[in-house]
Amino acid sequence: MLTGKIALVTGAGRGIGKAIAMDLAANHAFVIVNYNGSKDAAEQTVSEIKAAGGDAAAYQCNVSDFDSCGNMIGELIKEYKHIDILVNNAGITRDELLMRMKEEDFDAVIGTNLKGAFNTIRHMSRYFLKQRAGKIINISSVSGILGNAGQANYSASKAGVIGLTKAVARELAGRGINVNAVAPGFVETEMTDVLSDGVKEDLLKQIPLGRVGHTQDIAKAVTFLASPAADYITGQVLSVDGGMAI
Ligand code: NAP
Repeated sequence: MLTGKIALVTGAGRGIGKAIAMDLAANHAFVIVNYNGSKDAAEQTVSEIKAAGGDAAAYQCNVSDFDSCGNMIGELIKEYKHIDILVNNAGITRDELLMRMKEEDFDAVIGTNLKGAFNTIRHMSRYFLKQRAGKIINISSVSGILGNAGQANYSASKAGVIGLTKAVARELAGRGINVNAVAPGFVETEMTDVLSDGVKEDLLKQIPLGRVGHTQDIAKAVTFLASPAADYITGQVLSVDGGMAI
């Protein structure tokens, strides 16, 4: 149970982030549903959380912008007094084979997926250090563990998230702050909707448990890492991928 805890989940209006927000709220955390462009979706997530008996608020911020992240976290701390859980979920893809990948597509993916996580952690850690407590959970990917053809930018960003998680876990452990990553496999969301049926079939063949992941599969792992049950776990990467990365 996360009663009395406040969680900030980035990119929580839809997809995996929405499921994470809903699950944290179902476990009694107050959830700040961050979004960038999808205002209606974020407000819908807040409504669904409230309809289920939880509590939440939506907040717009582009996580790839360092100063915007500082403003968001400063304003949230002013309003809510504390934040206890940070989930870096916001992410994008710009898939292309290396020889055709544009520089801006590399930069955009690194900027959101890796620098976005750095931006929120950098600003939030100030408060977590003062509190001498905090849980940070970064969403990586099987693509950052195994590498994936056509995703040099994405795989690099998600491998970077793992390095960031481990380095920051070492730096903040002395102050009671846990930093972990969750690495989903192939999960049905708008991000993977764009894949062709052929690619989806190939991916399915690579999953030992024989089914695609659901957003709730990822959310359950995040809630566990955010809970006191995971107080002695830090610097870890929890693969939630049906065995893809074995
Ligand atoms: P999705 O359905 O495409 O949702 C992406 C989310 O990220 C949206 O809520 C979006 O919000 C948000 N976002 C993107 N850029 C942002 C920015 N600059 N600032 C704030 N929010 C931003 O993707 P998903 O499948 O749920 O993926 C969620 C996370 O899981 C990502 O980190 C992804 O890399 C990771 N993941 C997904 C899979 C999979 O199979 N689906 C597998 C492994 C890892 P707006 O709409 O408001 O921009």
